[in-house]
Amino acid sequence: MKPANRILHVDGDSFFASCEIALDRKLEGRPVYVGGGRNGNGIVIAANRIAKKFGVKTGMACFEAKNLCPKGVLCKPHYDEYRRLSLDMFRILEQYAPVMLPTSIDEGFLDFTTMDQHVWRNTTPLDYIKGIGERVRKEVGLPMSGGLGSSSWLAKLATDAAKPGFIEVPAGQEEEFLRDRPVRELSGIAKNRERSLAALGAKTFGDVAKLPSMLMKQKFGIWGQQLWLFSNGRWNQPLVLEVKDRTTISSNTTLPYDEPDYEAALTFTLSEATRLTGQLRHEHLQAREISLTIRFNDFTEVGGSHRFQHAQFQNSVINRALEELFRDCMSAAYKPVRQIRIAMWNLARLDTQPTLWQRTEEERWGALDEATHKLNTAFGKLSVMTGAQLALQKLDDAHKTPKAKCPFVPQREMMEKLWGPTGTPNSDSAF
Ligand SMILES: [Mg+2]
Repeated sequence: MKPANRILHVDGDSFFASCEIALDRKLEGRPVYVGGGRNGNGIVIAANRIAKKFGVKTGMACFEAKNLCPKGVLCKPHYDEYRRLSLDMFRILEQYAPVMLPTSIDEGFLDFTTMDQHVWRNTTPLDYIKGIGERVRKEVGLPMSGGLGSSSWLAKLATDAAKPGFIEVPAGQEEEFLRDRPVRELSGIAKNRERSLAALGAKTFGDVAKLPSMLMKQKFGIWGQQLWLFSNGRWNQPLVLEVKDRTTISSNTTLPYDEPDYEAALTFTLSEATRLTGQLRHEHLQAREISLTIRFNDFTEVGGSHRFQHAQFQNSVINRALEELFRDCMSAAYKPVRQIRIAMWNLARLDTQPTLWQRTEEERWGALDEATHKLNTAFGKLSVMTGAQLALQKLDDAHKTPKAKCPFVPQREMMEKLWGPTGTPNSDSAF
């Protein structure tokens, strides 16, 4: 008999908040929440368990959180660090299973189907997965939860039930585990499906299991059949890695401050487009359509799109069209720019060979990309850049390096600036 599928789902607990604690151990045991937005004081994007006890929730305004939990520590997000910690976490996880499928920065599935005879001989599956969690906590400093079950649907439900901690739903006990759980806990279930099920009197998986399977098939097609089998504990699905071609590539950037200088905004736009085009070519794709949306500081927007005769892969062509779009939609604008969105879609395959001596443009550009990529890998990010990227960097440096201070600032004024009017460190500073 084929062994039953054993799939582990793992999920970092309050991931961003946990990362902040991993980065600064002094925060341990305190209520911690992370604020989004450009100054890190917009809305709460993560809160640890202690902060949640005070009522702090994801999506609420940071000032609200401050009212609910005055002793809470508000952290600005450090996305690069979160990505690094996420990678560390997955590097440990991948040592445990032949197939791993990360689904987000802190979530993923591991296939343990063939493990039981070998690995679990001297331990139980539950102790084994707890051990993995313990190792991640020790080595990366991040707490995580997990669920082990016969399909990815079940494993994810098990994780949600386990949080914080680990649960195994042993083979044969699926139906019992699911019986009283509401179907809405199923990840990705659409509201309209949930309502249609409720109209049939099915709120829990147990209710679904009792419906005629034909009815489920008529109402919901293949998904209905699958849900019915699942609710009856008879859905056994291996973990499948699918590679899907991308259908769109886009970027959405809120500038660090509202930019009144449209040439600077254009420089940023072109530099960002260059990055996207490079990414496309790296994935052997080219784009037939592009669009640009500019949002101003009062949240009004202008934008436009362009469709090329043929799919394009060259910076020069794409940037020229984008510049035209930019000038078109900004011709009557006067408000500072807050946010810039670029999207490229209607993608087609691009086959390039890494050699400079080919005849077609595609082949030459492919060679250039390959070479640029190699140089940037060897000498650090952006050792080779396009004009727009260089211009952006200069602009950036100008902002980073503050203008020279007037050397004649009276001593007293300088002391006041540094430490407040009394000449002692004021309470706001971080001494
Ligand atoms: Mg999570």
